[in-house]
Amino acid sequence: MNLAIYPGSFDPITKGHLDILKTGSEIFDKVIVAVLHNPKKNAFLSLDERVSLIREVTKNFPNVEVDSFEGLTVEYAKNKGANILIRGLRAVSDFEYEMQLSQANSALSKNIKTVFLTTKPKYNFISSSTVKEIFGFGGDISAFVPEEVENFLKKKFAK
Ligand code: ADP
Repeated sequence: MNLAIYPGSFDPITKGHLDILKTGSEIFDKVIVAVLHNPKKNAFLSLDERVSLIREVTKNFPNVEVDSFEGLTVEYAKNKGANILIRGLRAVSDFEYEMQLSQANSALSKNIKTVFLTTKPKYNFISSSTVKEIFGFGGDISAFVPEEVENFLKKKFAK
């Protein structure tokens, strides 16, 4: 079985992430969205909140599973028996970082391969940071995140 891992912060999941995931789920037999728990990073949403939002918005994807992990992505992938990582590319600015990351991961684990996917043009510019910034200023984020995410953020930060 062709199993791929889609690792990331997903803080929160956006329509860009979802588009990458949709394509990934069409290419691979199964995709595990692996939410990174990084205690050093000051996350906007808790790990549980990020995981449950992703579960909610991917409930109609039959071959997508959602999980979380801590530590090295390659170790996590090895434990799951996966040797493919999915990462997304937006602009040229993503390229250098993603290239370094994929090369570091191949150096750490020689069987691991990173596959880069892109989104439809209309989702290309979306990032979790942009969403947080716009939301923080009271702007409309409905074009950037799934409805469930928008509703959750509105409820959580209503006070
Ligand atoms: P990380 O902190 O690991 O970068 P993110 O949740 O920000 O986690 O992103 C996970 C992956 O999804 C990254 O490879 C990122 O480049 C990709 N990604 C996020 N948004 C988009 C988008 N709009 N188009 C293409 N790729 C995207």
